[in-house]
Amino acid sequence: MREGSQVPHYGARDPITKWPGIGPKRAQEFANLGVHTLEDLLGLWPHRHEDRRVMTPLDQVHEAELMTVQGIVQRAQYDRFRQILRIELSDGRGTLSVVFFHAAWLQRQLPTGQQVVLTGKVERRASQMTMVHPEVQTLKAGEPPLLGLVPIYPLSGSIRQGFLQRLMKEVVPRLAPQVADPVPVAIQERYELIGRAQAVLYQHFPPDLNLLEASRKRLVFDEFLRIALAVQVMHHVDPEVAGLVQNPDGPMVKAFLASLPFELTPGQQKAWETIQSDLREPRPMARLLQGDVGSGKTVVAILTMLAAVDAGHQAAFMAPTELLAEQQWQVLHRFLEPLGVPCALLTGRDKQKAAAHEALQQGTLPLVVGTQALIAERVGFSRLGVVVVDEQHRFGVKQRARLSLKGTYPDMLVMTATPIPRTLALTVYGDLDVSEITGLPPGRQPVETVHVTHERRKVAYTAVRQAVMRGEQAYVVCPLVQGDDENGGAKAAVDLARGMEKVPGWRIGLLHGKMSSGDKSEVMARFRAHEIDVLVATTIVEVGVDVPNATVMVVEDADRFGLAQLHQLRGRVGRGNKPAQCFLIADPRTEQARERLQAMVQYHEGIKLAEEDLRIRGPGEVLGMRQHGITGFQLANPVKDLAWLQEARQVAVKLVADDPHFAYPEHKLLWQWVRDALDDAMPSQVLH
Ligand code: ADP
Ligand code: MG
Repeated sequence: MREGSQVPHYGARDPITKWPGIGPKRAQEFANLGVHTLEDLLGLWPHRHEDRRVMTPLDQVHEAELMTVQGIVQRAQYDRFRQILRIELSDGRGTLSVVFFHAAWLQRQLPTGQQVVLTGKVERRASQMTMVHPEVQTLKAGEPPLLGLVPIYPLSGSIRQGFLQRLMKEVVPRLAPQVADPVPVAIQERYELIGRAQAVLYQHFPPDLNLLEASRKRLVFDEFLRIALAVQVMHHVDPEVAGLVQNPDGPMVKAFLASLPFELTPGQQKAWETIQSDLREPRPMARLLQGDVGSGKTVVAILTMLAAVDAGHQAAFMAPTELLAEQQWQVLHRFLEPLGVPCALLTGRDKQKAAAHEALQQGTLPLVVGTQALIAERVGFSRLGVVVVDEQHRFGVKQRARLSLKGTYPDMLVMTATPIPRTLALTVYGDLDVSEITGLPPGRQPVETVHVTHERRKVAYTAVRQAVMRGEQAYVVCPLVQGDDENGGAKAAVDLARGMEKVPGWRIGLLHGKMSSGDKSEVMARFRAHEIDVLVATTIVEVGVDVPNATVMVVEDADRFGLAQLHQLRGRVGRGNKPAQCFLIADPRTEQARERLQAMVQYHEGIKLAEEDLRIRGPGEVLGMRQHGITGFQLANPVKDLAWLQEARQVAVKLVADDPHFAYPEHKLLWQWVRDALDDAMPSQVLH
């Protein structure tokens, strides 16, 4: 590191061109990497590190996945025809032959006599040890090699790895110590975080793997904390707002538990315990309940609603569509009727609407199921205590405020089966506590999932036939309602259903969004009553539909659906104890589509698929963060690091509650930081 008075002072916000050797052309290429200032350069994280901790002398080189060697180029030979560059390396103890593919440009970098460090795979080729297409670090005379855990950076334009590594080796140790640490020491100590300046240094040049991990933990925490604080500032709910106390030990809750034909799973039990303690508090609950498809969220929702009823309050259940509201009402009604708890369905076309409105206002109706229209139409409740929101993801503070009643907020439970993208978006942008139902009810078997090409589609329909013969039912899902020429011949529900009606012994039903809601619910009722064997549908059956006798799902043109959607669709089968199958018919045209299908075949848990989704599409896309103007996370993986996200959130909640105006001196830098995040995320006029 250069020291001394003649060395200019560099400020973190200086443009990158201030650094010697970086001119306008280079600056343009750095701009493509999002790097404008020296500070940005510090935050250009390596996407991985290469382990060059052990240098192997050339006489000890052997076959290995990864090896680092150092030597002098003895001979270089370029085969123009095969575009192969061969060099011979020597270190005075031995020699090694090295090949590079499609690397004409390397020729100039590797003249005879050049000092190099190479890291790569070693193979035996024609009885000779050969290093194959390694990473190259050329050394100037007297320059020490970059060893240890060497950062590998993302590249752009003509910027080469070696150049960037050398630049970083100069810049980072020089500027990292100037990095400010906005996180108060007390929080750092509590979460065992290393200092930010140190974390920045170690992210580039970690002395060992433990410190690399410590660095990552600190920087990930910072990314989360910054966004969590911004969310708290945006959504800071007035702590004076009161909630209602429910009664989770009441007679209806007990009677319901006693009436269940099964025990709660440990996952359900745990979620219910957390919810119970929320319900006992006067603070309004705002909880996200996340549980994989079929994990039994409905039962937990009913318990929560009955706790309100037992406290003399009302409860509302909101589904995303009218069809699903009706499905859920059927389920709730079946559970609640024996307990004598009245439960009304309130959808647009309901004839009893006026009477139900009246009863809600009077308080004679304790429970209602509907869509978000319950809010839009400003249904009057006499004493709304609990709101359950099923699979509805754009339900935030504003909607909740509209349900508030005489200054009190109802307790709110938002349920979702997909941790990504929606849950995460909520965790990041919303103001919700998160619980999870882990595990599935006993006896569930993973749905056997098969990808078949169009050519072999008979395989899928043979399985449908066999299921129908066993007295079971099937879904066939299509991307389109009606066929047209513009969609590349994708399968349409109407056409398929028409074709299948000719199959002897199959009773076919058709369900799609263009049907009237009356027709839709009639078809669903007939499917549930097993008057229909095969239901041909669009993705309208995606969430909530619960017919345990359905055991086969066929998805036509499955490459047209996203992973979360396919997982939801597959969740419609395998809901009972019978083995179930899912056939994904597709000739995938893109690599991404192929990877999605592969993930579906391989993985059955929502969280695993969410991780795959993140890997295939990248966090920005999955979280929809680009739309929000937040560039997303750099180091954090919001799925894997969910626990830290929640910790950061707790810190943010407490901090903003204690010091809502960031007035404490130790919060000054934090405010700066949060303001920048908010500036990124919102139009500036919102920030007074
Ligand atoms: P989801 O979490 O996808 O909404 P549901 O609440 O619809 O799941 O439950 C799926 C199925 O599992 C339903 O038929 C439900 O009655 C049943 N179920 C729920 N809890 C249990 C349990 N503890 N043991 C056995 N079956 C259960
Ligand atoms: Mg459900």
